[in-house]
Amino acid sequence: MRLLTFVPAPGEPARIGVLDQDGEIVDVAEEARGRGRALPFDPADMVSLVAAAERGLGAVRDLMAAARGKAVPVHRVRLLAPIHRPRKNVFCVGWNYLEHFAEGETWREKKVELPEHPVFFSKATNAVNGPFDSIPFDPRVSDKIDWEAELGVVIGKTGKNIAEAEAMRHVFGYTVVNDVSARDLQKGHGGQWLKGKSLDGCCPMGPYLVTADEVDPNDLRVISRVNGVVKQDSSTRHLYFKIPRLIAELSLGLTLEPGDVLSTGTPPGVGFGRTPPEYLRPGDVLETEIVGLGAMRNPIQG
Ligand code: MG
Repeated sequence: MRLLTFVPAPGEPARIGVLDQDGEIVDVAEEARGRGRALPFDPADMVSLVAAAERGLGAVRDLMAAARGKAVPVHRVRLLAPIHRPRKNVFCVGWNYLEHFAEGETWREKKVELPEHPVFFSKATNAVNGPFDSIPFDPRVSDKIDWEAELGVVIGKTGKNIAEAEAMRHVFGYTVVNDVSARDLQKGHGGQWLKGKSLDGCCPMGPYLVTADEVDPNDLRVISRVNGVVKQDSSTRHLYFKIPRLIAELSLGLTLEPGDVLSTGTPPGVGFGRTPPEYLRPGDVLETEIVGLGAMRNPIQG
């Protein structure tokens, strides 16, 4: 299923929807109300549905099996990130495609051996942005805003010290993330990966949360475009640390919970690795697509 979070009209609260076979949105709360059914989750909160696991998904599937056709066209609503208010920071992985690691050589200004373990960092929750919303641009803050198209993994089941062999059982689904990064803030603050990764709106996510049963995450094409020009075009088959290893290492001594998002790293083709370097400018349009999961389109605020 393709789950999404949407706002039907300005000022109304967010709610969960499902994209139907015609590409229209079925409003989960409305459908349940119309049929007098209680839901085992809060239909305004995707994390609550994720935590309800099979019970929640079963209830949604039942509604969809007999949807009454009151679907809403996608263009009539505003889509938010499917998990628009994560309970904690978005977990991220750095340097997880070899070619991207190589293009970082010049940026790091020193040679670094390939990591034995994944490099984890996080993006603050205020960075989460809708799949079609603007990305703020303020030259007083940063003029080196860069793109990083990535596969996002949404955790569905609580776990700590998760074994690699068990890891995929903890995955609820997948989404598209752009780990938009302020390179000058990464460098200017001692090479850290928090401030430069956490500016408001710098984590577009969506448009859908696609349930794990519909996705083979091992060979998904990951693409970014700026103003229609392809900048990144790779596949998750080139991930250096695969998803089970990432979940096993991240969960070592650190409890993962339903609704946690893990962004798996970006392929080569980011702006700072280009000659000359390229950064996003007001009026640019950043598109991020994972074939089979969906495409986002985020204008840079002009
Ligand atoms: Mg990244």
